[in-house]
Amino acid sequence: MKFYSTNNKTNKVSFKEALMQGLPLDNGLYMPVSIPDQSKLVKGISTLNIKDISYVIAKSFLDEEFKNSDIEEIIDYSITFDSPLVNIYGNIHILELFHGPTLAFKDFGARFMARTMEKVVSNNNKELNILVATSGDTGSAVANGFYNVEGINVIILYPSKKVSKIQEKQLTTLGKNIHALEVDGSFDQCQSLVKKAFLDLQLTKKINLSSANSINIGRLIPQSFYYFNAFSKLKDKNDVIISVPSGNFGNITAGLLSKMMGLPIKKFIASTNANKAVPDFIKNGFYKPCQTIQTISNAMDVGNPSNIKRIINLYDKIDLLKEDMLSWSFSDNDTINTIKMILKKYKYLLEPHGAVGLLGLENYTKNLSKHSGIFLGTAHPSKFLDVIEPEINQKVEMPERLKNILDKEKQSIKMKNNYTEFSNYLLENFI
Ligand SMILES: *Cc1c(COP(=O)(O)O)cnc(C)c1O
Repeated sequence: MKFYSTNNKTNKVSFKEALMQGLPLDNGLYMPVSIPDQSKLVKGISTLNIKDISYVIAKSFLDEEFKNSDIEEIIDYSITFDSPLVNIYGNIHILELFHGPTLAFKDFGARFMARTMEKVVSNNNKELNILVATSGDTGSAVANGFYNVEGINVIILYPSKKVSKIQEKQLTTLGKNIHALEVDGSFDQCQSLVKKAFLDLQLTKKINLSSANSINIGRLIPQSFYYFNAFSKLKDKNDVIISVPSGNFGNITAGLLSKMMGLPIKKFIASTNANKAVPDFIKNGFYKPCQTIQTISNAMDVGNPSNIKRIINLYDKIDLLKEDMLSWSFSDNDTINTIKMILKKYKYLLEPHGAVGLLGLENYTKNLSKHSGIFLGTAHPSKFLDVIEPEINQKVEMPERLKNILDKEKQSIKMKNNYTEFSNYLLENFI
């Protein structure tokens, strides 16, 4: 399978190039030149587990460039946890995507990307060094995804004292090939240091640098696996509606791709918080980026979602898009009330992102007599203790693997917001 840039359909590259490059030079995003037909997979899906399903889908994108045994290994190493479909009430289910090492759905994408990159580098004799600036969650999913991956180092830059205690532990306690730099500055300054390094020819001549940003095609493909897997577990497979709490719109793009591959989903709902560039686009027919607004579902605080380029690229006309996807925005107040109500009535604890997803689903299905509804649970509630605990007046249970991290010792390298210091560090450690 080849991949083209959304800015220029004639600019085609292999999967490996798209993976290692991340972004096309023309500033578009990579998309597959054709969409594999998975209707055969759908027919027999009820007997398959998530690894079987993932293998079939991955193969349809990767088989020209990877051996079958390599694809099997990539799936084996990256899909190491389940994603249960849990009934909340009536026909409404949550797809729990937070059972991975960093308790968020980003683990799927990060782990698959890491293992595919590992296969690519294993044929080179030079180590690859991945630079990531993070304000918290993306960094920990990437760090965990690459942990123990042969031939790849990860260097994470995070703003000192500006990430939560749990996030900092997740970034700084892995060790081995994961290196955490604690920068005396802001997230934007961390990002500038990384950008400068990529443009520094003196440095890139000597060190093999790469990025692992969230719009890498290697993170998008694996996100389709769990849509198929959720469908396979549904008892009632008619009129399936899926609501996706959306920020940068990568997750829902993978959902729309799954539908185009043949997964029979009637409608996708892109549920957002107050950042409503996409709901406004669906309503008004033209796309306009917004200023980012801070909310309690902060992983979705995105004013100008990158993946909207991919979605517009998939649909020629907005009317066609509207047949597959609707989008609404919900307030923090509604989000909190939903968390409280669902806990009280059904004894299930949501976190803010999942709650936004449920709001979107309920908004669509309230007038439907027949449907099967799924919303995506994108993170574990314990990642958002500070928001949830004061509202529900009780403690949120923390999973064992998160508790264990809190006992580990932080290992970071302190650094000023100074490019010379940063590049010297790279030259001294990673040549
Ligand atoms: C990243 C993230 C989202 C948003 O996903 P997109 O693919 O960017 O739309 C939603 N919830 C959580 C918990 C996240 O970490």
